[in-house]
Amino acid sequence: MNFHKALMELSHSPAFINRERSHKLAAMTALCAELLDVERVSVWQFPEQREHIESEWLHTPEGATAETRSLYQSGNPAYFAALESERVLSVPHAQEDCRTRAFSPGYLAPMGIRSMLDAPIFDGARLSGVVCLESTTHRQWTLPEISFVIAIADTVSLMNTHEAWLDSKQALEYATRYDSLTGLLNIKSLRDRISYLIDKFERRGLGSLALLWVDVDRLKSINDGLGAQVGDNVIEEIGQRLKQVIVPGKDLLARIGGDEYALIIRNQTQPDTLEQTAAKIRHEISKPIRLNGHSITVGASLGICHLPGDCDSTEDLLRGAEAAMYNAKHEGRGRTCFFDSSIQISARSRFELENDLRTAIREHKLDVFYQPITSADGSSTESVEALVRWQHPERGWLSPIEFLDIARGGGLMYGLGECVLRRVCEHWQWARNHQIELPEVSVNLAPEQVLIAGLPRQIKTICAEYGVPVRSLHFEVTEDALQGDIITISGILEELVAAGAQLSIDDFGTGYSSLSRLKGLPFSRIKIDRSFISNIPDDEDDCAIILSILGLARGLGLSVVAEGVETEAHERWLCEQGCDYLQGYLYSRPLPFDQLVERFFTSE
Ligand code: C2E
Ligand code: CA
Ligand code: CA
Repeated sequence: MNFHKALMELSHSPAFINRERSHKLAAMTALCAELLDVERVSVWQFPEQREHIESEWLHTPEGATAETRSLYQSGNPAYFAALESERVLSVPHAQEDCRTRAFSPGYLAPMGIRSMLDAPIFDGARLSGVVCLESTTHRQWTLPEISFVIAIADTVSLMNTHEAWLDSKQALEYATRYDSLTGLLNIKSLRDRISYLIDKFERRGLGSLALLWVDVDRLKSINDGLGAQVGDNVIEEIGQRLKQVIVPGKDLLARIGGDEYALIIRNQTQPDTLEQTAAKIRHEISKPIRLNGHSITVGASLGICHLPGDCDSTEDLLRGAEAAMYNAKHEGRGRTCFFDSSIQISARSRFELENDLRTAIREHKLDVFYQPITSADGSSTESVEALVRWQHPERGWLSPIEFLDIARGGGLMYGLGECVLRRVCEHWQWARNHQIELPEVSVNLAPEQVLIAGLPRQIKTICAEYGVPVRSLHFEVTEDALQGDIITISGILEELVAAGAQLSIDDFGTGYSSLSRLKGLPFSRIKIDRSFISNIPDDEDDCAIILSILGLARGLGLSVVAEGVETEAHERWLCEQGCDYLQGYLYSRPLPFDQLVERFFTSE
């Protein structure tokens, strides 16, 4: 029998190729034992640490075993050196041979092994294992026998290479289909799945799906404030929650970008079912996330698009869901929005709008309106709040809710802040030149601004340019801007106060800052968010919150502004409770500078 022919027949049979590794080793060692008439045939491999070699498979007359035995290279240097250099070890007198006699007392002699024939397994140029034949009779190994053992070793080597290739192919497959951070499928998998489902629906002539696009709000400020690692942990945690949330018709969940996820829902696509699903998802996401000492709460905006109702292709479905999500954000975060065709238009123009905004900021084209803040007894206008406005060439006056998110997404907030401050300074300069004395001007600072160490210097430089004393400014910082690296932020705030400015905490009550966090910061005023004002005095909860904020402020020696005061009932209740300042439509809407001056600061 031709040894090589037998090995070829074995290794090319489908029964061999498709079996797992241990079956292949069993078949080859059995064939070898039979054809060469030896008792023991074993296959050994180096593990990762190469100081020893491990038996992977051993064929004996009593049966085969995959039990691991180890042989240490250090105890048998001559054997390993010979293996590496001689390609094959043909050893008729194993117990005496200088290459193998080190095994004699502990192994060869007690086992009665007389001859050995070993062939190294190379993976590339590196010795990775050995095929080992042991005979209890003296053998002068013949050339065909030697060449056969080499062929077996080469077959194992081919198996190793193939397995390594399969592993790397799988790793590659994993990388192209999965998101490494969350372990969820990625956008490619999502697209493939949608296309597959569309095909299936078309073939059957029925079926429907909805795509839920989930965007985590405020992740950017978490990244900026607490570091990218915390941001990553938040993304991971939300991925886990989405994986676990049970929703009807759930088909596939993917992470499709930075802080965005998408969920395919099949069949259960009636609006009210989806509405419930969306509410459940938002609820899961908004549960506090505890991460090394921080408790972080984030919200999410959701967009939903239907197929075939709203569109009929994969790309249109993705675009539609994304556009609906932007619309949800636009309407004020933490909402769900269904796609309709009008949204498509606004989504397309988002990108144009961002470009226009970039230009407007660069060319200092943004404008500022002012809203008075009055003392509670109505006797004086205590200060005015500067509120950015943008006169778009085609769309007319735009309010901040229409473009601040775009500015934020485009990284334009710092530039926007500078633009607003310059406009405020221009107005202030104009007033002084006309002998008009303006009260303090409140300027809003974005979270993106209070994280930049150079902010105080920038503000001082701009003020100096226009001859505006920093002490005539008051800066409003929202509660959620204080989430970030508190050392940096408090350094910046201290520097502003040292330069003479005053500071307010804006939108108080909506964030999650703990009192202890606020206590050390140099604020002189709290602005109660207008969402608490609108339902007083009827809503008992809101009243209780306002009272506790007033108590807290008194305890900390801070003054309090209520914003969004629209009715006399609001005013009466707030005055009775001892609120210091009031701001709202009841007194005035935000006005262009010239109207403000005319109404409030000219004697006639
Ligand atoms: P905010 O700082 O809370 O500003 C007050 C907002 O409430 C203003 O909206 C104002 O027009 C509105 N408002 C005032 N009184 C009433 C009222 O009685 N009822 C109701 N419903 N609303 C009232 P606006 O001007 O649209 O600004 C929205 C937000 O945009 C501001 O909220 C602020 O967070 C941001 N913002 C405005 N200007 C700037 C700016 O220059 N820089 C930055 N970073 N943010 C700005
Ligand atoms: Ca404000
Ligand atoms: Ca506010």
